[in-house]
Amino acid sequence: MIHHRRRALRFLALLASALPASPQDLFLRDATVIDMTGRAPYRASLLIRAGRIAAIGNRLAPPAGAEVLDLRGRYLLPGFADMHAHVTFPRGETPATYDRAVSEQVLRMLLAHGLTTVRNPAGPPVEAARLRDDVRAGLVPGSRILTAGTPLNGGTQMSGEAIAREVRRQVAAGADYIKVYSNSRPAQTKAAIDEAHRHGRQVIGHLQNTDWPEGAAMGIDFLTHAVSWSAAWLPEARRAAYAAERKRVGSTKARIFWLEAVEVDGPEVSRVIESLIRHRISVDPTLIAMKTKFVPSEEYRGVQNASLAPEPMRQTWVSGGYTADWSEADFARLRTVWPKPLAIVARYHRAGVLLTAGSDLPNEWVVPGISLHQELELLHEAGIPAADVLAMATRNAATARGLGGELGTVEAGKRADLVVLSADPLQSIRNTRAVEYVLSGGRLYRPAALWIPPR
Ligand SMILES: [Zn+2]
Repeated sequence: MIHHRRRALRFLALLASALPASPQDLFLRDATVIDMTGRAPYRASLLIRAGRIAAIGNRLAPPAGAEVLDLRGRYLLPGFADMHAHVTFPRGETPATYDRAVSEQVLRMLLAHGLTTVRNPAGPPVEAARLRDDVRAGLVPGSRILTAGTPLNGGTQMSGEAIAREVRRQVAAGADYIKVYSNSRPAQTKAAIDEAHRHGRQVIGHLQNTDWPEGAAMGIDFLTHAVSWSAAWLPEARRAAYAAERKRVGSTKARIFWLEAVEVDGPEVSRVIESLIRHRISVDPTLIAMKTKFVPSEEYRGVQNASLAPEPMRQTWVSGGYTADWSEADFARLRTVWPKPLAIVARYHRAGVLLTAGSDLPNEWVVPGISLHQELELLHEAGIPAADVLAMATRNAATARGLGGELGTVEAGKRADLVVLSADPLQSIRNTRAVEYVLSGGRLYRPAALWIPPR
């Protein structure tokens, strides 16, 4: 009986968190603000009004009637962005298999982990747009969504005109941007970019058949994943052997060979970096999705991590799809070269590439929410200072999307998408997990009202 009442109360709490915001002012008193403009952390209070940061200062007093929250000893930052989160579950594009209930659960998990924005890199176009709109209208609590439709994956059949038509169809269905996928050939990639830009839409590429520098020269806006696995990144003397390896063991297992052959400091990687800089292209490395697949460990695959994921999602992981045919020796070879993708990302960072943070959930063992924090830890492990890692999850994400005037830093006038931590993330990047409150458009959430981890 008591159990039932508790469950009912928890349900009511969830309902309450889903109600539209009251017009009331919110006053955040005496926080340590890490504003991500490059300024050192400082103590200040914030007035949140009508979804925006109305004022920041250390002499502010709360207006009459404002709700006051004491944040002494807490750290206030811009809300985090996961730039690669397939929130429409399953991650495919088939409307018939789309599970809205799981997707809503994922969105609550993400917001509970401090993620106020996610970029959905593929989904059923109409359904994904509807989910996005319902979050925006306050009908569904969760991270704000930017969505792509069905990825354009080239293939031998698709003409430039057919691709342009598909882009127009997705734009009409409400896609915020267009995703181009690995099989897309250069002419097809160009057709997609040109048509998307004609409609004012940005383009993200998970490119392989089109080499990154080619896509960059064509005007692509974002590239995703740390490396492309294309032969052009390898020293010329190794390319034929890589092609043979792909034929022999398939493209996934041949990545072991690719990582062994790639020269982190070689001229081929330099050529890629120069093109990213010249064309100002942002990259979300999604190291976590690579690590959970290729470097199996208790940390990711164990009950403690995996049981956080919604059950239908976890069910799709247990077969170990990508590496089901790998032997212990294969995993051991990969483990030896695992530091290489981290070192390549560190090179991007040193060169000044605009980096953002993405998890690529729900790839195998990439758990919604916590995985973005795990990604931040890997980026730090690669040698990127904590302040720069935090920028990737906040300011850089806004800059990459052309929304730097609206989001990504804590400044008066900006949208009140904020996160409050109980520990200092500059001291330890692991402290980004210590989310005490999240604000989305000025609406205040406690993580436990959004999502309670299963015991
Ligand atoms: Zn993806």
